[in-house]
Amino acid sequence: MNDCLIIGGGAIGLSLAYELAGHGVFVELIDKHQVGHEASWAGAGLLPPASILGAIEPQEKLRALSHQLHEQWAKQLLEDTGVDNQYERCGGVYIARKPGEAASLISAVHQWREEQVQVDSISSQQLAQQIPQLLPESIHTELRSAYFLPDEAIVRNPRHLQALTAGCLKRGVKITEQTEAIRFKLNGNQAISLETNQGEIKAGMFCLAAGSWTQQISDLLYQSIGDKTFIKTPEIEPIRGQILLYHTGERLLPYPINEGPRYIIPRQDGHLLIGSTVEEVGFDKSTTTEAFDELREFACSLLPCLAELEPQRIWAGLRPASLDRLPYIGQVPGTTNVFMSSGHYRSGLHLSPGSAVTLGRVMRGVDPEFDLKPFRLDRG
Ligand SMILES: Cc1cc2nc3c(=O)[nH]c(=O)nc-3n(C[C@H](O)[C@H](O)[C@H](O)COP(=O)(O)OP(=O)(O)OC[C@H]3O[C@@H](n4cnc5c(N)ncnc54)[C@H](O)[C@@H]3O)c2cc1C
Repeated sequence: MNDCLIIGGGAIGLSLAYELAGHGVFVELIDKHQVGHEASWAGAGLLPPASILGAIEPQEKLRALSHQLHEQWAKQLLEDTGVDNQYERCGGVYIARKPGEAASLISAVHQWREEQVQVDSISSQQLAQQIPQLLPESIHTELRSAYFLPDEAIVRNPRHLQALTAGCLKRGVKITEQTEAIRFKLNGNQAISLETNQGEIKAGMFCLAAGSWTQQISDLLYQSIGDKTFIKTPEIEPIRGQILLYHTGERLLPYPINEGPRYIIPRQDGHLLIGSTVEEVGFDKSTTTEAFDELREFACSLLPCLAELEPQRIWAGLRPASLDRLPYIGQVPGTTNVFMSSGHYRSGLHLSPGSAVTLGRVMRGVDPEFDLKPFRLDRG
């Protein structure tokens, strides 16, 4: 019998499997399709800076822990599997051209400084020197403020997922794809097994990590528990994000450019990701011409050389979002051995190693390093 069955093989489920297996836990992970092909694949791989020194709130501690772990995990995964996830602590620039965005940026700068994240003001001349392809008018006339954050990092999502999958297999995790949860079997409040379309899987512990689909699985669980109307089911909604991809030959940017909710992220092989939209359209992963045009216009407003290029493709993914946009990490109320890690919204890739280590401790009966109250499943 497995010590633990994880349902869902995105960055969250795979990271937890990798972490638990590293502590000798025998883990099986199932995915209803293929592992690493949903939001975690579709994301941009931006890892905004965070500092362990100034982190006070649990949310800040989770972010800071994750930020620290990404660098360590990238090395460990490369050593374990030979797969380079292209983690790069390249820094990132944050700019504002509109008054509203300048005001939001100032408050973000205050917050970063409070958390002891290094933030350096950068002049338009310095920016133009570092990125000669930037549209001169955008920089010299429209730019209201710009800051460079040397601790920002990036990772290439598909490579990271490939590395995590290989790392899990190397550590003995059993990965079963095309396997969908149907029904839980319980003995009182203890889950005993999960019936799937491929048969029954028994385990000592279970973790629900199915991204935007996690609520469907917790609903299955509560149906199996019976009438427990006092239990509040955690709500998770899908928020679509679309990304436009260019290939520019040589690498065009030394680091990501962030402006409000938009960003341009370079890959080492000359790809450029332009992201991303934030859309409440339910479980709809289609792409739209509106998003294509909007992202293209944003990209060309900063990098006019892109106007001569056709984007290679556009894709969409569904971010799993809780109502307050904080993840659910912890035990499922009304059960003794079912856990959840989900609802990471726009930061799931960033928060994946910290969530894995933190929940991994709880599942192994070790006290977490910080208070998990804000992430409780039954919060108001
Ligand atoms: C456009 C876009 C840009 C983003 N950019 C960033 C970024 O720069 N930085 C960042 O940190 N985050 C980013 N995110 C957010 C991040 O990608 C997500 O928060 C994260 O990937 C969620 O991971 P997950 O493992 O919970 O979900 P997913 O990756 O969606 O994985 C869930 C898995 O569960 C499986 N599953 C579903 N139902 C079942 C079932 N019934 N039985 C078994 N398996 C099931 C699915 O097949 C899937 O493989 C972005 C997201 C998008 C869409």
